[in-house]
Amino acid sequence: MAGKVDLHMHTIHSDGTLTTRELMERARKAGLTTISITDHDNTTAIREALDLSEEMGLGVVPGVELSASVGEYDVHLLGYFFDYTHPPLLDYLSFHRQERVKRAERIVEKLNGLNIPLRIEAVMEQAGNGAVGRPHIANALLEEGLADSYQEVFLKYIGFGKPAYEKKYQVTPREAIELIAEAGGVSFIAHPGNALDEETLNELIREGVDGIEVIHPSHSPERVAHYKGIADEYFLLTSGGSDFHGGRKNDGDLLGKYTISEEELDVIRRRL
Ligand code: AMP
Ligand code: ZN
Ligand code: FE
Ligand code: FE
Repeated sequence: MAGKVDLHMHTIHSDGTLTTRELMERARKAGLTTISITDHDNTTAIREALDLSEEMGLGVVPGVELSASVGEYDVHLLGYFFDYTHPPLLDYLSFHRQERVKRAERIVEKLNGLNIPLRIEAVMEQAGNGAVGRPHIANALLEEGLADSYQEVFLKYIGFGKPAYEKKYQVTPREAIELIAEAGGVSFIAHPGNALDEETLNELIREGVDGIEVIHPSHSPERVAHYKGIADEYFLLTSGGSDFHGGRKNDGDLLGKYTISEEELDVIRRRL
C-alpha cells in the first residue's frame, strides 16, 4: 500500500483553527495514513496526536516548524522525528513563544501609530494558549471590524516590508538545525518556493539541512521538479505536505492533495 503522508499542518497550538482531534478526524476523512503536525514553535500537539494515533488509525510523526533569519528574510524550517521531551528544545520553544508575544505587542503599537485602535487583548484572545503569530493579528482586526479582508491586512500592514511589519527574534538557520539534530531529528527547508531565492536556499544547504519540502501548495509542478533536482544533486531528503491551517485562509480543501508516500517517509526514517 502506497499510503498518503502529509508532513505539514497546524492546530490551535499555533495559528491553525482546529484542535488536534478535529484535525486528525479531517485527516482521516481525507484518506491520509500518516501525518505530522508542525505547529510554529510549539510541540503540544505531538503528545495529543500520539495518544490519539491508534483510535484514529493514523500514523503520527513528531514535527515542528521553526523560524530563522537569513539577512532580511524569515525562513521556515521543519523538524521531524526529534525527541519532543528534549529539555533544550522545550526551553528554546518556550523562549520563542514569549518573544512572539513581545513581537505581537510591537506590531499592535505600530498599528496604533497608524490610527488602527487594535488592542493586544483581542490578539491574545485569538491565540489562546497557542504560539501567537500574524494570522491572529489579522483575525483580531477582522473580528474587531478594523479590516475588510485577511489578505488586505498582510498587503497593507503586516506583510514583509509593510509599515506594521516586525521581525521575530533572530536566530541563525544553523542554531535551529543543530537544535533539531541534537534532539535526534532531521530538518527540512519549508516551502522554498515561498519567496526564497537560490542564494538563501544554497546557504541553508551549506548550513546542514537534511532535506527540502518539495511538495507544498505554493509550488507549481515546475517548482516541484526543480527542488527535486536540487535535492538529488546534494543528496538531500525530500518531504511534502499541505500546510493546512484548518480552513481559515481558504485552505479548506488542501488535506489529501499534497502528500508523499509511506515509502518516501521510510526513506526519511532510514536517514535517522
Ligand atoms: P508569523 O509566524 O507570525 O510570521 O506568521 C506567519 C504566518 O502568516 C504564515 O505561516 C502564513 O500563514 C501567514 N502569512 C505570512 N505572510 C502572509 C501573506 N502575505 N498573506 C497571507 N498570509 C501570510
Ligand atoms: Zn502558520
Ligand atoms: Fe511556514
Ligand atoms: Fe506552516
